Amino acid sequence: MSSTEEFERLLDAAVAFHGHVCGGQIIGVRIGMAGLRELGITDPRGRERKDFIAFVETDRCATDAILTVTGLTPGKRSLKILDYGKMAATFVHLPSGRAVRIHVLKSSMEKASELARKLNPGGGKDAELQALKELSEEDLLAVKEVVVHLEPCDLPGVPVRIATCSSCGEQVLDNRDIVVDGNTYCKPCASGQFYYSPSEGSVQSTCNHVREQCNECA
Ligand SMILES: [Zn+2]
Ligand SMILES: [Zn+2]
Repeated sequence: MSSTEEFERLLDAAVAFHGHVCGGQIIGVRIGMAGLRELGITDPRGRERKDFIAFVETDRCATDAILTVTGLTPGKRSLKILDYGKMAATFVHLPSGRAVRIHVLKSSMEKASELARKLNPGGGKDAELQALKELSEEDLLAVKEVVVHLEPCDLPGVPVRIATCSSCGEQVLDNRDIVVDGNTYCKPCASGQFYYSPSEGSVQSTCNHVREQCNECA
C-alpha cells in the first residue's frame, strides 16, 4: 500500500470515528502517522500496541484522528489529553524512552491558504482540505526530539496506589492525591477549585464534609 493510500485509509477511519471530515482530521492523521514513523512503530494496534504512549495538547478534532491512527486511548492511559489548546502531540517509545514532540507550524495556515487558492482560485472548503493534505510535512509540522519524564503512576496497568481524600471521602488513584499538613486530599479539595458547583436544592450543597462523619449530612 502506498503512503497516500495508507493516509486515505487512515483518514477514512478517523472521519468515521469523528463524524465529519475537517482540517483537524487531516492534520491529526498526519501528526499520528509522523509520530509512529519517528518512533519506528509499524504495528501500533498489534504487537507494538504497548510500546508507546502519546500526549496530545488539545481536546479538539485532531485528538480523535490521533486516537484512530495510533490505537491509543485515554481509558488505556496510553493517550494523555492535556488541554493546552495547542495543535501538538508528543509520542513516547516506552522500551527506549525516546520521545518526539510534533507541533503544527503557525506559518502553515498561510501556506495552506496559498496552496488552496492555487488548487481552486474560487476558494471553498474542498480546496482548503486538499491543501492540508498536499502541504509538505516541512511546511506543516515541526518535529523535535524531547525528554519526557514518566513515573510508574503515569503508565498503563493496575493502579499503583489508591488514596482517600480526607475532605470529600472519594478515592483517588495513581498518586493524584495531594498531602497538605499531613492530610490527604484530592486535587479539587486541596485547591478549593472545582469545575462544578452543587446544584441548588442539593442535599450536599450545604455541606462539604465527609458524609459518614458529618452530623449535618447524616
Ligand atoms: Zn472535526
Ligand atoms: Zn476531595
